[in-house]
Amino acid sequence: RDFEDFFLKRELLMGIFEKGFEKPSPIQEEAIPIILQNRNVLARAKNGTGKTAAYIIPCLEKTDTTKSHVQVVILIPTRELALQTSAIVKEIGKHMGIQCMVTTGGTSLKDDIMRLYNSVHMIVATPGRILDLASKNVADLSKCRTIVMDEADKLLSTEFQPVLEKIIGLCDKNHQICLFSATFPVTVKEFCQKFVPNPYSINL
Ligand code: AMP
Repeated sequence: RDFEDFFLKRELLMGIFEKGFEKPSPIQEEAIPIILQNRNVLARAKNGTGKTAAYIIPCLEKTDTTKSHVQVVILIPTRELALQTSAIVKEIGKHMGIQCMVTTGGTSLKDDIMRLYNSVHMIVATPGRILDLASKNVADLSKCRTIVMDEADKLLSTEFQPVLEKIIGLCDKNHQICLFSATFPVTVKEFCQKFVPNPYSINL
């Protein structure tokens, strides 16, 4: 398969090729069309497989930049990984006019509030901070239909679990969850049973 086979927007394909990606990796081949169909996805994926672009590419494709609301939330367990992920969104999406915001604990809440006065299509965040912004009605997630959870085993191994449930509750009822995890311990399995119905499973 080639990236052209996914019928992606021209501006997105340009970003993918400029990033130096020539062909989709196996996880990208499987995940991109399924995420584009708005299905729930559970992917067992290690680092190094191309899993980050496997969700970023369809998330970028689905984003309507003529609208100004938050359409995608990417939840990440650590600040460092959130910064890396948003950098990749900006690189691959650079010709698309996507407004992507990264927000994590340990930074100025006021700066985030100012940023949210303008249009934001995609938020990459650690759970605590985005819940803070959403419950203060600073970030409006009510039209967000795509939720990505990366390194879900780490996201769900901590006190984050009730926070994640609240974030999901603030998104559009008609949402999809794309969950990526290296391992599927009981915590992740139980969460999926409750919050990720009829998922398409990817096991590479
Ligand atoms: P990840 O598994 O997301 O941490 O990605 C591992 C590495 O593979 C990163 O350096 C990516 O830039 C790179 N990568 C991801 N997808 C592709 C692709 N389709 N072709 C070449 N390199 C890729």
